[in-house]
Amino acid sequence: MANNIEKYGLEAAAEMSNFEIAHIQAIKNLVEKENIDCDFTLTRSFDVFMSEAFAKKSKDGFESLVEKGLTSINDVQFTPAKLAKRVSGVKGAKGCASFTAAHLWPYKFIMHLLASTVSKGLNLQTHTPVTHVSSPSDAGEPCLVSTTRGNIKAKKVIFASNGYTAGVLPEYTEKIVPCRGTCCRIVTPDLEKAPYLTNSYVLGQGGGIYDYLIPRADGSIIVGGAKATMGKDRSIWYNNMDDSEVIEPAKDYFKTYMQDHFLGWEDSGAYVEKVWTGVMGYTSDLQPHIGSIPGRPNQYILAGFNGHGMPIIFLAAKGIAEMIKNGKTYEQTGLPRVYRTSEERLQSIVNKINVSSLD
Ligand SMILES: Cc1cc2nc3c(=O)[nH]c(=O)nc-3n(C[C@H](O)[C@H](O)[C@H](O)COP(=O)(O)OP(=O)(O)OC[C@H]3O[C@@H](n4cnc5c(N)ncnc54)[C@H](O)[C@@H]3O)c2cc1C
Repeated sequence: MANNIEKYGLEAAAEMSNFEIAHIQAIKNLVEKENIDCDFTLTRSFDVFMSEAFAKKSKDGFESLVEKGLTSINDVQFTPAKLAKRVSGVKGAKGCASFTAAHLWPYKFIMHLLASTVSKGLNLQTHTPVTHVSSPSDAGEPCLVSTTRGNIKAKKVIFASNGYTAGVLPEYTEKIVPCRGTCCRIVTPDLEKAPYLTNSYVLGQGGGIYDYLIPRADGSIIVGGAKATMGKDRSIWYNNMDDSEVIEPAKDYFKTYMQDHFLGWEDSGAYVEKVWTGVMGYTSDLQPHIGSIPGRPNQYILAGFNGHGMPIIFLAAKGIAEMIKNGKTYEQTGLPRVYRTSEERLQSIVNKINVSSLD
């Protein structure tokens, strides 16, 4: 957050944090209204600082945000070193900060929404890669969408293709890059032997090296990151979309993760049940690309979430829908200005993607 203020100014940074925070309530409302069985859980998330230097940097950042009067910081509680271990339950914690968060089971959530939209008449074609989208110079002409199973004409096209975007929009090559990440599910054979964790966690070393954990009510824990293992060979994660195999240096990283890091888990017998690889869309300036695509009338993009799409995609999609359905401009949708795709961003040669930006 402090970085965003430095880069984009207080107003733009506040827009981004408020937009992310708004997702908690918006998704909660949707889950309740549609009665979606997706394990939605409202909780607190702990950023746990695992080195003194990182704890100090984070505390300084927190204090400067309080001083600047950023309203979203009101929800953050900072705990200094003396109490951090006890408050977070994490061994070796040198400080921690907690804030309101939520988690859900994305597959169940998406499948419910898809089933509901299909029942209302949506024509969903799976296993049908789009190979090309024409870009008519006349804005009144439809776009021709070519697929491996035939072509269709469309008045409007939205590219929600994330890490794979450059395959159909070559101008996004090196602007949205497919990057691999690793994640696992840890289970505990006897739930009596492990304290029940009610919060989510990010355990950070500083320098962008961290792991994140989402404990679930059934006692299992989803853990991702292992970034400390991926520094040496960039090709194992950067511009790599092979999710058919586990990332070799990361695959054993989580073996005794709970025993090593959490108080009271030493004799839990917790073990990794599954580990997998996923492909994310990282952007060269680390911000998503959202809005009308420069030079392509009637075509929109909603991609490049830098492994952090859950607090952005839902309301960003609503913004795009308002642009298409109600003729709103980007500014009228309330989407953060920094996320807007633009010719300037496409022309920039800056590339900030490194292992420390990888989720
Ligand atoms: C290991 C891992 C852990 C993560 N953890 C978190 C987390 O804790 N919090 C968080 O917020 N986010 C997390 N993410 C990121 C989150 O999963 C993404 O932000 C989110 O899935 C992006 O959604 P999307 O629909 O934009 O893109 P994707 O889920 O990548 O979907 C893109 C879709 O487009 C389709 N597609 C692409 N090109 C074409 C084409 N030419 N024709 C037809 N279809 C095409 C693909 O088949 C795919 O189905 C994680 C990701 C990974 C891999």
